Amino acid sequence: MPATPVQRPAISVVIPCFNEEATLPLLHARVSAAVRGVVGDDHEIVLVNDGSRDGSWAAMQRLASEDAHVVAINLSRNHGHQLALTAGLDLCAGQYILIIDADLQDPPELLGDMCEMMAREGADVVYAVRRKRQGETMFKRATAAAFYRVLDRVTDTPIPLDTGDFRLMTRRALDALLSLPEQARFIRGMVAWVGFRQVPFPYDRAERHAGETNYPLGKMVRLALDAVTGFSTAPLRWASHLSVVLAGVSLLLLFYIAWGYFAGDRVQGWTSTMLVVVVLSSIQMFVLGMIGEYLGRLYIEAKRRPLYLVADIAGPVHGRATLGF
Ligand code: UDP
Ligand code: MG
Repeated sequence: MPATPVQRPAISVVIPCFNEEATLPLLHARVSAAVRGVVGDDHEIVLVNDGSRDGSWAAMQRLASEDAHVVAINLSRNHGHQLALTAGLDLCAGQYILIIDADLQDPPELLGDMCEMMAREGADVVYAVRRKRQGETMFKRATAAAFYRVLDRVTDTPIPLDTGDFRLMTRRALDALLSLPEQARFIRGMVAWVGFRQVPFPYDRAERHAGETNYPLGKMVRLALDAVTGFSTAPLRWASHLSVVLAGVSLLLLFYIAWGYFAGDRVQGWTSTMLVVVVLSSIQMFVLGMIGEYLGRLYIEAKRRPLYLVADIAGPVHGRATLGF
């Protein structure tokens, strides 16, 4: 690679996209207008196509050919939201980085206020906290609320509640984030982990512009498990706490059985035996499953595979162009 110094635009906007063909033109128009309003021409818009099955990639190529500020990255297949975002963050070059969803649920027009807050507070990260969520189902809101609260209880790193990936970061915070090599990435938690000064920015989450959520229940559970296992070993500790409680219960049972025996009550007890067997074996299965979750992740990390693979890039690349080319 030639040792040319990286040209750093003032702001990079990084947007992972999966099946967002219908939203891309409006997304580009709104993001472009918002970022121009803040820094003028000195910006780049990094669009990452995460193996979309619709015409998203063609739409991105078109945008890249029309607007020299657009960098479009085509991943080799669907790698998932967090890895697509990582690809964009790796390749962007900006001094300040705005992460935003492609579906316009996070209004790009807030950029100006977020920059102002960053300057006023001297912060490295301004993360957007959802005050309201429009157009999302009760189920989505309830599970999301429960998720953030459970996560807060079990993790050792304080991860802000009701916060997605929508945030503005400085280059040094981003470089710190990119130095974390793990495969199972829960980026909002990893950003919290890197530290520096981070301030919340409350906003109202809008409805999806088009299409459906790409986070069905299965993917949400996966993200939740990555979040918990990535930031806490508490579930492993629970197993030992549980064994102490169970030892106490067994002792009581022992007394009960002995008492029954001496009272001449020798054939009864099938129900209680079955109960103990069923309860204990299900607890054991649960604990084994928890251990399995960690073990599986250890295995995946041990393989040290690349986080994602890039197939094509359209537009100028200012950032690290060393991704296996
Ligand atoms: N996304 C992605 N890859 C995926 C799933 C989603 O890049 O496998 C992108 C999607 O295009 C959007 C963002 O991640 O920009 C958030 O996804 P979505 O809006 O479906 O999630 P929700 O807002 O419903 O939690
Ligand atoms: Mg969305």
